[in-house]
Amino acid sequence: MDEKLITVTSPLLPSLDDFLPYLQDIWDRKWLTNNGHYHQELEKALCEYLKVPYISLFTNGTLPLMCALQALRITGEVITTPFSFVATTHSLWWNGIKPVFVDIDPDTCNIDPAKVEAAITPRTTAIMPVHVYGKPCDTERIQEIADKYGLKVIYDAAHAFGVEVDGRSILEAGDMSTLSFHATKVYNTIEGGALVCHDEKVKRRIDYLKNFGFAGETTIVAPGINGKMDEIRSAYGLLNLKRVDGAIAARRRVAMRYREALRNVPGIRVMEDMPGVRHNYSYFPVFVDAEKYGMTRDELYFKLKGENVLGRRYFYPLISEFSTYRGLDSARMENLPVATRVADSVVCLPMYHSLTEGEIEKVLINIAL
Ligand SMILES: *Cc1c(COP(=O)(O)O)cnc(C)c1O
Repeated sequence: MDEKLITVTSPLLPSLDDFLPYLQDIWDRKWLTNNGHYHQELEKALCEYLKVPYISLFTNGTLPLMCALQALRITGEVITTPFSFVATTHSLWWNGIKPVFVDIDPDTCNIDPAKVEAAITPRTTAIMPVHVYGKPCDTERIQEIADKYGLKVIYDAAHAFGVEVDGRSILEAGDMSTLSFHATKVYNTIEGGALVCHDEKVKRRIDYLKNFGFAGETTIVAPGINGKMDEIRSAYGLLNLKRVDGAIAARRRVAMRYREALRNVPGIRVMEDMPGVRHNYSYFPVFVDAEKYGMTRDELYFKLKGENVLGRRYFYPLISEFSTYRGLDSARMENLPVATRVADSVVCLPMYHSLTEGEIEKVLINIAL
């Protein structure tokens, strides 16, 4: 078999010719990190693109989760979803917070607001939902619950770069939202991330936290951490930002093609666009009903692999099944029937801006029997 491997993702890269002058400029400036020229430029450009007032860049998408919890002084218990990337729950553990898992909505794969209220205890201080696959959570309902019980809301928006609802950024929801700019995401700075907040004073505090807690040459206001993004990746990020709309449009075309071919395949469910939402097409999950499809999810996954098509069982296993968390009361499978079923039936298909027509056909031929 000399056929090329079709990977599940492929990074969006700026052109090297465009990047070299930026590198030359960074060499000339001799300012490599600590809120440098390109760092400031990228924060400004991202605020504009994402339609948010305040953004703090980070060196990855996990540290903003950890710093959001520190900034808001979250303690005790936090209600979250088991259907996410492990970093969501790890950020709680690193802050000594007990995660409380609740089940998800089968249609959106996001935390089910109806389950959140029942999980609140006197120790609950916050809710940490995830906009899974970039599909917006029911932010209104979640905010109602948070307001009623006096809870903070931190959204893990790692998948939701550029997602808008009725023309407004999804990042406006809650007290804070975090982004990941990892190489595998819709928009990347190789490694990188950001924390979005709605208040200048809060941003200042976040900026202290990501720089060891320094509020001045000799003043430390918190046990901060080092989460700073450097100049090289900030410059790279500025260039990639110019390409991201094109990449999202290309992803959209792939999604349309996949849906058209798979929508009516018995036993395969695809996710459709939601009304009023600007989607980013960050992932293309399909859900396999083994009985109707005649093949289990794993059988399909390995069949694709045998044909050099790499899908990804994302998210499987559930976070609640990992050794760190499976002893928790809320991690019991009986508490998470929908998430368990979804995790056992999902496979994400190759999805990126540069997938060719031939590659799309090859993926589809192996699924639409
Ligand atoms: C990618 C991702 C993260 C972590 O981001 P990194 O930049 O890899 O640290 C957090 N949460 C979710 C849901 C993710 O997909």
